[in-house]
Amino acid sequence: MLSSTYFGTGPLGDGDRGYGRYSNPTWDPFEEALGQLEGAQLPGLLYASGLAAVSSALSLVPAGGVLVMPSHSYAGSLVMATELAGKGLLELRTVDIADTDAVLAQLAPADGRPASMLWLESPTNPMLGVADIRALTAAAHAAGAVVVTDNTFSTPLVQQPLALGSDVVLHSVTKYLSGHSDVVLGALVMSDAGLRATLLHHRTIHGGIAGPFEAWLALRGLRTLALRVERSQASAAILAGRLSTHPRVGSIRFPGLASDPGHERAKSQMKGFGSVLCIEMAPVDGGTGSMSGAEAADRMIRALKLWLPATSLGGVESLIERRRRHTAEPASVPENLVRMSVGIENVEDLWTDLEQALASLGG
Ligand SMILES: *Cc1c(COP(=O)(O)O)cnc(C)c1O
Repeated sequence: MLSSTYFGTGPLGDGDRGYGRYSNPTWDPFEEALGQLEGAQLPGLLYASGLAAVSSALSLVPAGGVLVMPSHSYAGSLVMATELAGKGLLELRTVDIADTDAVLAQLAPADGRPASMLWLESPTNPMLGVADIRALTAAAHAAGAVVVTDNTFSTPLVQQPLALGSDVVLHSVTKYLSGHSDVVLGALVMSDAGLRATLLHHRTIHGGIAGPFEAWLALRGLRTLALRVERSQASAAILAGRLSTHPRVGSIRFPGLASDPGHERAKSQMKGFGSVLCIEMAPVDGGTGSMSGAEAADRMIRALKLWLPATSLGGVESLIERRRRHTAEPASVPENLVRMSVGIENVEDLWTDLEQALASLGG
């Protein structure tokens, strides 16, 4: 609804929405639908962006509290946490989230303070490491920590972190939930009424609210989520299988491959494996000269015609990028790593395009 204020004479909250920063009727159906999709007891909360939702969720860490976060979290989440730690507002401990023992050691160290919050992202961006969500949330709760899981890559159709023990689920609604690369939004979902009230208050006072038109677009996108996820997951699995044996591909990360280190764990907590995959390009040592894996990646991406060279993921169109072109990307992400977000195009068209671009490298 395009309004910044509402008629009202009685006490606020009694059916009176009051002011446009407190609530908007266009947010409601999206928040209700997302809450139900995640299996939550309550409607979700829509935010101006995924990072506005990250900011709200991180506000649950008390002053000076300990935050345990995957070293390969979404880069923006890591930057925000690092800056908060730099100001002394919290203590940040980053860890390889696929290494359960290492995470347990950070949650409740023998010689240090226990964690206030465990941040989970699984599979991670862009390394696609898989966390044991059940085991880690149980350990976090035993240490007294609240657990937030960024479920952007999986969508609630593929993974439901609340059922696995998480307290709060986070989405960049920009990605699969909206699905058409035409809107920037975020969301949090939770089942606890106290947590929801705290987060709603944070959203109202810090002001990270969604525009009504964006909310309407997100709801429209959500209507086709199931079809889009079904198609893009199936295509990702086919492409991963073919890429895994291609000579120009040095290695591949995709939890759907039986050879992937996260495969069994992913199977135990996901209904499918998502539609993002990453390849590390092999260096080319051919007749026309040699190039590094990173150069081969850049050349291959420029030779593509159907895949679009752009950041982001989860849209109807297939996107591809070499992640280290972003200066904020951690140095532990290999220079030659290419992230691919598989869209809903014809899978043979996607494969034909990849094949010609890989062949153009020679070698
Ligand atoms: C994109 C993304 C975010 C940030 O969301 P924005 O909508 O861009 O603010 C957070 N987490 C993950 C996993 C993402 O992919």
